[in-house]
Amino acid sequence: MQSPDYQPPPDEALPPETPHKRPLLTDFAALNRPADEADAHWMGEALALAQRAAQRGEVPVGAVVVLDGKRIAGRHNEPIHLHDPAAHAEVLALRDAALHLQNYRLVGASLYVTLEPCVMCAGLIIHSRLSRLVFGAADPKAGAVNSVYDVIARPRLNHAVAWTGGVRAEECGAALRDFFRQRRR
Ligand SMILES: [Zn+2]
Repeated sequence: MQSPDYQPPPDEALPPETPHKRPLLTDFAALNRPADEADAHWMGEALALAQRAAQRGEVPVGAVVVLDGKRIAGRHNEPIHLHDPAAHAEVLALRDAALHLQNYRLVGASLYVTLEPCVMCAGLIIHSRLSRLVFGAADPKAGAVNSVYDVIARPRLNHAVAWTGGVRAEECGAALRDFFRQRRR
């Protein structure tokens, strides 16, 4: 049910050639790319940030943004210290990257994150017009690339992001497992 506050225009009201009528991408498999040579290196930088998060008592997830072979932002998960439920590593890193570029669109940039992004971050990745997403460990509880939701793998919106999962997944997952194991002690 649509909210009574907002009614999108009916499709028939739009001329046939508007962007609204752009055909939905159907070749979803083409978005899933093999890993590049540089991926392990950048994931290592994201992992170092995840370790820093763990040292500060935050869930160890790290993210770096890379453009033209250079790191332009890197942050770790920080909701506790920032009193901010939205302070996921991806959100903070994408905001820093946009500020650095003085542009809210990150066309051509890649995001490396140690854990498969959640629904919120997957939405932001699309809004940011990021070109590529690389993640480490899959998140079978909340992942929104292709685990629980298909926000990135089967896009319904007008921006598609190339994605690669499983880069240094074992190390990325171990950082999380170690963190929660220590907390339970
Ligand atoms: Zn998230």
